[in-house]
Amino acid sequence: MKTKVKLWLEDGTIDIFIGYKIVDGHPLPHCFTQSHVEEVDELTIGPFRYPLEAIATDIAAERPHAKIGLLVRDCNTRALNVLYIWNQLDRDNIKTVTVNCCPSRLKQHGDCSYLEPEKAGDYKQRVGIDNNMEPADLNAFGQEERLDRWMYEFQKCIKCYGCRNICPVCFCKECSLEHPDLVSPGKLPPDVPIFHLVRAVHMAGRCIDCGLCEDACPMDIPLRLLYRKVNEIVLDVFDYDTGTHPDQSPFSVLGDTVTLEPSPL
Ligand code: SF4
Ligand code: SF4
Repeated sequence: MKTKVKLWLEDGTIDIFIGYKIVDGHPLPHCFTQSHVEEVDELTIGPFRYPLEAIATDIAAERPHAKIGLLVRDCNTRALNVLYIWNQLDRDNIKTVTVNCCPSRLKQHGDCSYLEPEKAGDYKQRVGIDNNMEPADLNAFGQEERLDRWMYEFQKCIKCYGCRNICPVCFCKECSLEHPDLVSPGKLPPDVPIFHLVRAVHMAGRCIDCGLCEDACPMDIPLRLLYRKVNEIVLDVFDYDTGTHPDQSPFSVLGDTVTLEPSPL
């Protein structure tokens, strides 16, 4: 891996490589450059706790022609596919080094670098939602109970914006979560459930199920399950499987008439 990255930097295939470097004992995102190729010896592969593709998006916004290399696992590849489709990155300018990872969609974390979700305590299974549930498991609750459980989870939110800030596919310059008509500015706790539903709607067709938001959430809200549920609806209604292919456009279905059945999360 390091040999390949060095070669790419030296022969000009890429201008910069985004990976990880240990700083004060912590693996932090680091940009390896042509002027300090020797630093690549310090390249490490994670843990993947940061959205490297979001860093690539920021670099591309400043330098649209920059050739960018980065480490990817399966969910990062899905994020890149979404960012290509939404014109946030030019795929001709991106080179990737794939590292082994579990198929996160299947919730088999294996040697995955982000933390295994804590097993939810009994209290949470009684009144909230177990983070380890599958979307289909939610159907075991009736509609009213499901809503109650989601409301319990949403009420824990402290509006830290960690979920939005860590997300590799949250690239909007103006965020609806800060729009005064949707989310009251400066109000704590946030409006429930509008804060979470606004974000959930914006993640429809965007979320690539990397799990970083849930990992970052200090309140252990099952965000990943929420967005998986939303994308299940997107797949069902629009036949759009988010992030699975760089040529699969969410806009190709816009001409069709779609009837949405009531589908509470
Ligand atoms: S799992 Fe969370 S952080 Fe990852 S893409 Fe989806 S909303 Fe963003
Ligand atoms: S990370 Fe968790 S607590 Fe923070 S705003 Fe998002 S849902 Fe709320």
